[in-house]
Amino acid sequence: AQHFLDRAKAQQALGAFLAIDEGVTLAQARAADARLAAGDAPGLTGVPVAHKDIFVTTDFPTTAGSRMLAGYRSPFDATVVRKLADAGMVTLGKLSCDEFAMGSANENVAAPAVGADHAVPVRNPWDTSRIPGGSSGGSAVAVAAGLAPAATGTDTGGSIRQPASFCGVTGIKPTYGRASRYGMVAFASSLDQAGPMARSAEDCALLLSAMTGPDPMRDATSLDRPAEDYTRSLSDSLEGLRIGVPKEFLGEGVAPGVRAAIDAALAEYEKLGARRVEVSLPRTELSIPVYYILAAAEASSNLSRFDGVKFGFRAKDYRDLADMYRKTREQGFGDEVKRRIMIGTYVLSHGYYDAYYLQAQKVRRMIADDFQQAFKTCDVIAGPAAPTVAWKIGEHGDDPVADYLADVFTLPGSLAGLPGMSLPAGFDANMPVGLQLIGNYFGEARLLNAAHRFQ
Ligand code: GLN
Repeated sequence: AQHFLDRAKAQQALGAFLAIDEGVTLAQARAADARLAAGDAPGLTGVPVAHKDIFVTTDFPTTAGSRMLAGYRSPFDATVVRKLADAGMVTLGKLSCDEFAMGSANENVAAPAVGADHAVPVRNPWDTSRIPGGSSGGSAVAVAAGLAPAATGTDTGGSIRQPASFCGVTGIKPTYGRASRYGMVAFASSLDQAGPMARSAEDCALLLSAMTGPDPMRDATSLDRPAEDYTRSLSDSLEGLRIGVPKEFLGEGVAPGVRAAIDAALAEYEKLGARRVEVSLPRTELSIPVYYILAAAEASSNLSRFDGVKFGFRAKDYRDLADMYRKTREQGFGDEVKRRIMIGTYVLSHGYYDAYYLQAQKVRRMIADDFQQAFKTCDVIAGPAAPTVAWKIGEHGDDPVADYLADVFTLPGSLAGLPGMSLPAGFDANMPVGLQLIGNYFGEARLLNAAHRFQ
């Protein structure tokens, strides 16, 4: 723990951490030592982990990357945080993310980073002039730069897989409902899922086994299915595995260097005994408008709780209650969050609900059906996690749509609630390229097995 805290301090300029508390971490580490000495220690005892600052924690402040939660301290731990602590892990601190997990570049963070008195964009350690991806950018950077051996992330539309891809680490988002959402600051509840990010599929398997499982009293959407040991089948043979490559995932718009890295990875899989088959996910591009309607709609509802009364920030000067709400939300939320609240409110409003929200729900179902069609002829789907490598900080300027378009390959799986992961596949102009693997429901073990054999 001391080693990683020192690394985090030395690499502060990356902006990965939003909270560190050496006293808390070292106390947890000493308690882990005592458990080890007493011989009553679960498998991950003493292994440090850092949490995306979207998970609430009693030992550290939680900001969700927002000004809105400045000064907020949760009275309880998120289930994922508690489960990893129960497994013996030691918390290194809280990691930067886009505000309320809304973003693809970690440029939307509005909470100050450790060592800075203001918010800073997180930097990709492979090239610090580039973004690390988002929204779990701090998590990807912490692992890639060796500031933590593992980290938690959340993935609503790609926020584990895309930053893992951009930073050359491994990350997995399990089937929707596999990990409890209790204590994860809610963005889009029908999509939000937690998962691990680490240096290998094996490490991800260890964490995922510890952080998943039913949580019926606290998250009604957590699935009633016992936790699994994902390490058991890591070394299984890939002989005969049918890898479906959607033709829409390697078409126009994919950078040639990314396509080359993915093709090379798929050729490697063929050497391992897998078979490459072509499949189709015809509604891939539609996943962008569908996701940005549904996620915004859910966000506009979830974020109504931030009103200056219950959590964190409250505006200073106001006339009356309504004015307090207005000023708190005006000052507390960043631009992207406000944009989503407005879009979400619009698509849910009378007269537009049928035209946008309901239509998007219908297409979401079709996208899920397209996957089931594809899984008739393949076991695992593969393609790039993103069409390009990490772009330059500021490159997308004030154009949010440029960020949205970059999510095109992670959104379909999210809308279908399928498990997905990204693992390092190669490089394009010295920047990491991630191979995305998507499995059918509860196919996490198969994905981790396929990733492990490749690594
Ligand atoms: N980039 C997507 C968005 O901005 C996904 C974010 C996420 O998965 N949390 O909504």
